[in-house]
Amino acid sequence: MAGAGRRRGGANSRCPACGGPTHHHRANHSVPFNTVVDLTPLTPAEQAAVREPNRLIYCLTQRPHGPPQLRLLNPWHPPDCPHGGIHVTDHRCPPTTLF
Ligand SMILES: [Zn+2]
Ligand SMILES: [Zn+2]
Repeated sequence: MAGAGRRRGGANSRCPACGGPTHHHRANHSVPFNTVVDLTPLTPAEQAAVREPNRLIYCLTQRPHGPPQLRLLNPWHPPDCPHGGIHVTDHRCPPTTLF
């Protein structure tokens, strides 16, 4: 509330560690836990590459009125989103190469 207004451009927050655009999801009926996802859309090939037991892929749909909606990607959900969403995965900070 206090001063933490929404930013334009979709990201509702930035990673405090790397500053990358992320979406903070609060637990609800579609994803029942809090999570932070990257806002970089994954191509179908990238989705296959990042899919592993402890890394989830989500479908993020933007709605014109209301917050973006995050859903867990079901096995039957095609990697090429049929309803205009983007597919994203849990945020992990990129390796630091500055030092
Ligand atoms: Zn989708
Ligand atoms: Zn980060």
